[in-house]
This record gives sequence, structure tokens and C-alpha cells, in this order.
Amino acid sequence: TNDKLSEWDRENFFHPSTHLAQFARGEIPNRIITGGSGCHIEDRDGTRLLDGFAGLYCVNVGYGRPEIAEAIAEQAKELAYYHAYVGHGTEASITLSKMILDRAPKGMSKVYFGLGGSDANETNVKLVWYYNNIRGLPKKKKIISRWRGYHGSGLVTGSLTGLELFHKKFDLPLTQVVHTEAPYYYRRDDLSMSEEQFVQHCADELEALIQREGPDTVAAFIGEPALGTGGLVPPPAGYWKAIQEVLDRHDILLIADEVVTGFGRLGTMFGSDHYGIKPDLITIAKGLTSAYAPLSGSIVGDKMWKVLEQGTDENGAIGHGWTYSAHPIGAAAGIANLKLIDDLSLIQNAGDVGAHFKAALQAELGDHPNVGEIRGEGLLCAVEFVSDRDSRTYFDPGDKIAYQVNAALLSRGVISRAMPQGEILGFAPPFCLTRAEADEIAGKLGESVREVLG
Ligand code: PLP
Repeated sequence: TNDKLSEWDRENFFHPSTHLAQFARGEIPNRIITGGSGCHIEDRDGTRLLDGFAGLYCVNVGYGRPEIAEAIAEQAKELAYYHAYVGHGTEASITLSKMILDRAPKGMSKVYFGLGGSDANETNVKLVWYYNNIRGLPKKKKIISRWRGYHGSGLVTGSLTGLELFHKKFDLPLTQVVHTEAPYYYRRDDLSMSEEQFVQHCADELEALIQREGPDTVAAFIGEPALGTGGLVPPPAGYWKAIQEVLDRHDILLIADEVVTGFGRLGTMFGSDHYGIKPDLITIAKGLTSAYAPLSGSIVGDKMWKVLEQGTDENGAIGHGWTYSAHPIGAAAGIANLKLIDDLSLIQNAGDVGAHFKAALQAELGDHPNVGEIRGEGLLCAVEFVSDRDSRTYFDPGDKIAYQVNAALLSRGVISRAMPQGEILGFAPPFCLTRAEADEIAGKLGESVREVLG
């Protein structure tokens, strides 16, 4: 029964990102999800919800796709597992590596498979360190990340993440990680700055940080093409070009964390294509399989690959691997998922319906006195709430406005996400979202905002 499951849940299950004491006291309801189809999920009580966040922005092709489920079942029957060490592969993992490289931005060489975005970023940091050790630059190890960046929640990746919640009480960040300013134009300190001036300011801040740390100690810069969990913020025009110039000047590698943006969320295959970024490493996860099975990857660029490959002559096999690297079931899911994205032109749809959705949000809430900004690119959109629109004053954190609107919207059958820092409500629906569903989300959001804020 539902009661029994709820009881077992509270007794046995350690939920991530959950207020444990409130959950134990029953103040946080447990929702048991049983099924899904297209953009909707269903819970055990039979409630059907329109998922405006695609799980955790990962079920990009939508729920209940038989093509992927069947590919997983076939693979499991044929060969559920074999490892990828010492030159071993499977038809699925080799085919998927080719499909990824065929879709990747120019200049990428190889893909190293992992399980999730966090371990892929861990791999990236290790590859960067290994690369500089082989080059005889043992001091060049620091990684620069941005405040508000999200790159995972392991020890290194939680350090890269620039959100206080992920550092607090964990003694993070580790000393080899330093943070610079986020390209968050709406929240710039000096409102009189133009976009162009702000971009220059971000580049100057980065340059100053590199000088303070010492350019010979900085190995890489990591960033999401458009900020995700830290607030869903597309960068101002010219940002990546300006950043790339600073990095090139100091022989600093660029890691594009495309866990959210990879495989279509911004309406282009990669965020790097969208913003003209030329990365040395690209992190992929979520949209690689649309989360039908766990799989991630680090796409390694030509420049690093040449050094890594030659380095093994002197140093032997590269000492980094996971049991589940290139897991065949994940790979089979990835192949079926990427085919589906092509066959149904889902990236095109993400771009088209994304633009429609943003316009619908604007029409619904553009004039509301507590809506500071409506922003987005493709199907990655956010609404930021302020207590005063002109001065951009924050609400009192205790007001939890985004949480309240999120709850009001949920009561109308739509899932959104109250982002962890700031009064920001996020949307990242599956790419199969229709215009009618986009209108439904915008309309119900309008009602919810008016219920909470008047
Ligand atoms: N990088 C980005 C940009 C992410 O958004 C996430 C997760 O949301 C990660 C890395 C970490 O991925 P995972 O949760 O699969 O470890």
C-alpha cells in the first residue's frame, strides 16, 4: 500500500538534497513516481503532472519511449556487462563513441565514458593534472570555476561548484579550486554597466585572479555554456570570446561542462556551438541517454589527446578507470536516444518551442511588479522574483518566494524547480514539449504567481 511504502521510505531511504529532519517528521511529503509518458509523469495516487523540469533536466526525449526501453532490454539480454579496460569494448560503446564524436564541436578527439556528470568532471580534473605532469608543469594545477557554477557534488566537483550549500560543513572548496565572477548581467554590482562593459569586467576579473594566483599555477577553467543550477543564466553576448582570450594568453585549458546543455537543450547540439566556445574538454551526461540509463563522458580535444597518448609511452597505462565505464546498457540507451533526437528533430523543437515558451512567459508575467527578469535560451528558462523591480531588491530569504510559487504551480499539476540560490524558478522541460503545453505552463504559472504575490 502507499502507507506501507511511505513508512519504509521514511525508515530506510536516505534521500539526496533533502532536509532530513523535516522528512523524518513527515513535513516533506514523499511522492512515489510510478510512470511517465511524453512530458508527463504519474504518481502512485494517480496524479498526473506536467514535468516542466524533465526530471533533473535530463529526460530530454520525454518519458516512456519504447525505442530506448527496447534497446536497453535487447542489450541486457545479449550482454549486460563487459568492462572497457585494456582495449575491451562492446558494439554499443564503440558505436556510441563514434556517434558522439560525429556530433561534437570541431577539434575533439576521443570520449572517455563514466556514469554521471560528477564523475566525468572528476575525470576531467585528473586528465588536466595528468596532462600538465606529462608536460613537466607540476605546479600548474589550479582550476578556476565560477561562483554559481554547478559541476557536481563530489569532493573535487563539489569544490568546483560555486554554491555555498555545497561547501558548507564539508570543508570545501579544496585549495586547488578558486572561483571567479559569474556572467550574471542582471545581478551586476554596477547597474550603469552596459553588457559590453560587463563582459570586459568579467574578463578583467578573471585576468586579475590568474595574476593573483600566478599564471604558472592555473591549469584550467571550467564553466557551463549557460549557467544551470546556479540560476539558469545565459551569458551576455561576447562573454565566451573574452574569456577564451584570457585563457589562451596563459596556456589555461577550457572545460565546457555541457551536462545540461549537451545534445540540444539550447536549441543547438552543444552549447559550445551556440556560443562559439572552443573547449579542450567537454563534460556530457544527462541528455546523452535522456537518463534512461546512467552514462556520462569526457570528450577530450585534440591538443590534450596528443600529449596524453604520447605520455603513456613513458608512463605506462593511464591509471584511471571505473568498473562501469562505457557500460553497455547505458551505451545502448545512448544510441537509441541520439537516434530518436535526430529522427524526431527534437533539437529543432527545443529551439522553436523554447522561443515560444519564453514569449508566453513574457506575455503572462512581463509586467508583474515582482518579476525582475524572464530569461532563457532554448528550453532552459527562468523567472527571477524581486521585491522591487527598479532596485532589483531581493526578497527576505525567509519568504521563500520561489518555493511558494513552485508549490502553487505543483497544485495546478505542473512541476518547476525552485533553484537553490536566489528567488529563481527554473524550467527545463523535455524537448518534445508542444506549444500548447508551453502555454499551459505559462498560464498556470501566471495564476500561481498572482496567488502568492498578488
Ligand atoms: N555538471 C552540471 C552542469 C550539472 O548540472 C550536473 C548535475 O546537475 C553535474 C555536472 C553533475 O552531474 P551528476 O548529478 O550526474 O553527477
